[in-house]
Amino acid sequence: SLRVADLHLSFGTLEVLRGVDLEVPRGSTTCVIGPSGSGKSTLLRAINQLDRPASGDVLLDGVSVIGTDPNRLRRRIGMVFQHFNLFAHRTVLDNLVLPLRSVLGLSKEEARERALRHLTDVGLADKAPYRPSALSGGQRQRVAIARALAMGPELMLFDEATSALDPELVKGVLGLMTDLSAGGMTMVVVTHEMGFARSVADQVAFMDQGRVVAAGPPAAVFDSPTSPRLRSFLSQVL
Ligand code: ATP
Ligand code: MG
Repeated sequence: SLRVADLHLSFGTLEVLRGVDLEVPRGSTTCVIGPSGSGKSTLLRAINQLDRPASGDVLLDGVSVIGTDPNRLRRRIGMVFQHFNLFAHRTVLDNLVLPLRSVLGLSKEEARERALRHLTDVGLADKAPYRPSALSGGQRQRVAIARALAMGPELMLFDEATSALDPELVKGVLGLMTDLSAGGMTMVVVTHEMGFARSVADQVAFMDQGRVVAAGPPAAVFDSPTSPRLRSFLSQVL
């Protein structure tokens, strides 16, 4: 499970996270929604220690990860970004193999075998020898997801994983995320896809101005929002 407790984070004088509380039980999926600039990406970055919080705590299975080297956390937390962040000069296969070797210390053969298994899982084994530039955006994002999953993470973070994709490619990536959620992965998904949030999330958390101001099951958040700010946000996006 993931627990975020009273998390504060500033960039200079700009207080971006102003006491975030969030609880994500093991095996569940939380979708984070909210206006641009509300701190959603910063929250994900703080969870995996890419940004350093000023105070508060991030706990995985009850143990604080604050101060952990982000490179060590990469074994436990997988992150998928809007813009894939694949190594452009490496083959698809090497994109998976390299971190398996450098972070997990697998042998060449073990890494290759595991990488191919995960590429097969996302339906892209045949793309193994190609550079990412030879793939569609949706395929690249599935490679990025496979790369994260190959590390065997206990938590997956998605930051607008489908926002940069052409509409016809979104479905495949959301389908993969849906399967992952159904398979029991613990996930935090920042998304503008309200249909996905409604159908897949166990919990929807609405962020505004650096705080989670409403959270609950999708039906409660979408159909009977109590917070005026949430109501006004939903009226703009639904
Ligand atoms: P969006 O929906 O547009 O992606 P968001 O909710 O993900 O927005 P963040 O990216 O977390 O928002 O940004 C929150 C605030 O922090 C914004 O005002 C942003 O300008 C600021 N911010 C984010 N990263 C930095 C940084 N590295 N340095 C300074 N300010 C930053
Ligand atoms: Mg963002």
